[in-house]
Amino acid sequence: MTLPGTPTRVDYPAGALAGTATVLHVAPAADGLVAVVTDATSFHPVDAAWPDQPADRGVLRANGRELPIVDAVVAATEGTELHLGDAVPVRKGTEGWTFLVAHLVDAADAPREGDEVEIAADPELRAALSAGHTACHLASLALNRALAGRWSKEPREDALGAPDFDGTAIQSSRIEANGSVDRYRLNKSLRRAGFDTASLDEASLPALAAEIEATLADWVAADAAVRIEAEGPTLTDRRSWVCELPDGTARIPCGGTHAESTGALGALDVQLELGDDAGTPVLVMATRATPRS
Ligand SMILES: [Zn+2]
Repeated sequence: MTLPGTPTRVDYPAGALAGTATVLHVAPAADGLVAVVTDATSFHPVDAAWPDQPADRGVLRANGRELPIVDAVVAATEGTELHLGDAVPVRKGTEGWTFLVAHLVDAADAPREGDEVEIAADPELRAALSAGHTACHLASLALNRALAGRWSKEPREDALGAPDFDGTAIQSSRIEANGSVDRYRLNKSLRRAGFDTASLDEASLPALAAEIEATLADWVAADAAVRIEAEGPTLTDRRSWVCELPDGTARIPCGGTHAESTGALGALDVQLELGDDAGTPVLVMATRATPRS
């Protein structure tokens, strides 16, 4: 058995939901499942290295059967073994390693190497996750803008030239159906970077959320076009989210899927909360879109 030496071609960044593919490798996985690696896929996998957007839901059709895809993960191989999800021992792009999309299906009816299969992602969930992911990027930019006056040093700039609070403090980002939850560490290294963490107290949060929502409302009203730019067609080619906002063109590295324009998000609502993560204060931003139907 030879493992593929070229990364999976991914069609979901351009918006594809379904397509045909050839099975290149089938490997055992946990819980009676197998990992099916194909030459191409329209199915968004979760990336354990930065698991912001969850996997699509959907089916794999092969040999007249339809199998639910239980999960889809980023996998990697150095040629002899397929490592799945968080068992991938190297960073994406490590020389000598090939990164692949693995679709996990029940072992009993799994296709075999060489089979032609059809892979189809659920359109409703995809649309909701795409709206959530676009909302997440916009909210991070609006948050950076709202916090711009709280820096005493020049930090790195975000995609619109504002001090990059999001990029400096982000702990985790989770995309949900029509929304996202971002957690930011308000720790010593953020203070050393020049951010006034003490200014973020409970009393300051409602005004901050209102300011973020006002920026987001402007951006939704502008119905700015959103697109994904890719340097190539495979899983490991660099891709960027590009949004033509009235304030300038924002470009953010991103491996996910997105709405086609900011207007599609409808009303955007932001909730801010202070929390604690093992003694480190955190700011939690929950963003919800109410997409136009
Ligand atoms: Zn993204």
